[in-house]
Amino acid sequence: MRMAKILEVREENPRIKTLILELGMKAVPGQFAMVWVPGMNEKPFSLSGCVEGKAWVTVAKVGAFSERLHQMKAGEQVGIRGPFGNGFKMKGEKVAVVGGGCGSAPLGFLVDELRKAGKKVDFVVGAKTKGELFFVERARNAGAEVVVCTDDGSDGRKGFTTDALAELLGKEKLDCVYTCGPEMMMKKVVGICGEKGVECQASLERFMKCGFGVCGQCAIDGMLVCRDGPVFDGKKIAKMKEFGSLRRDACGKEMRS
Ligand SMILES: Cc1cc2nc3c(=O)[nH]c(=O)nc-3n(C[C@H](O)[C@H](O)[C@H](O)COP(=O)(O)OP(=O)(O)OC[C@H]3O[C@@H](n4cnc5c(N)ncnc54)[C@H](O)[C@@H]3O)c2cc1C
Repeated sequence: MRMAKILEVREENPRIKTLILELGMKAVPGQFAMVWVPGMNEKPFSLSGCVEGKAWVTVAKVGAFSERLHQMKAGEQVGIRGPFGNGFKMKGEKVAVVGGGCGSAPLGFLVDELRKAGKKVDFVVGAKTKGELFFVERARNAGAEVVVCTDDGSDGRKGFTTDALAELLGKEKLDCVYTCGPEMMMKKVVGICGEKGVECQASLERFMKCGFGVCGQCAIDGMLVCRDGPVFDGKKIAKMKEFGSLRRDACGKEMRS
């Protein structure tokens, strides 16, 4: 655990903030860190950037812990353990990145790195409504082709990211599709890629406590999301019985969806 000073807080939208931390860390997109707020708790967050001795985490306000992170100001400190997990693997030359809701947090970092490596990137990003989108300009500035999808049609095309992806795959041959977002969206992305024979990688979320494979809290189909993931290959995910149907709560109790 290292203490890190918050250098800057960026408001991405009314529900999402990025904290830029003074922390020398080497990480690849898809890896995560455990963020500790003294006196409160410790929770997992994907790294949304890692540049020049600064680590970024992008936090959606969903409950008490994330609300406390949203209240923190530049100069305050948080504890960081990590980076943990495997991260996305770069494959091929023409790729698509599909993000839904706050699942886009690790994908801004991924798009930046893919573009730096000279890949052609389509970033398909979706949210319920225009005000919930983020990292759209970041991806455009990195040189990605951005397709915005909103459920209510308030920005970009009206409809789901998965429809936009299916259209894209009908027109172009892609080498790999990367995704992070609601589990139902990722399940559909894995299905579409499987049908088209396109490689796919998805970043999964399960309740986590230790972050490095000891506590067993984030088990899925005999694997641990923190140790064996959080990024899994689409072919492996397609065989998981618990993906899209079962998760465990903070006590380890099974919850079916
Ligand atoms: C590998 C990984 C990467 C993540 N990356 C991000 C990210 O980049 N940005 C982001 O906003 N959120 C991310 N999350 C989710 C984030 O950890 C939770 O949303 C956060 O802990 C919520 O805490 P809370 O007290 O604010 O809300 P709570 O009211 O406690 O929880 C709201 C929901 O968040 C989830 N959650 C709560 N505690 C945990 C936990 N210890 N482990 C996993 N999920 C939890 C549960 O689904 C819960 O229903 C990630 C989770 C994982 C497993």
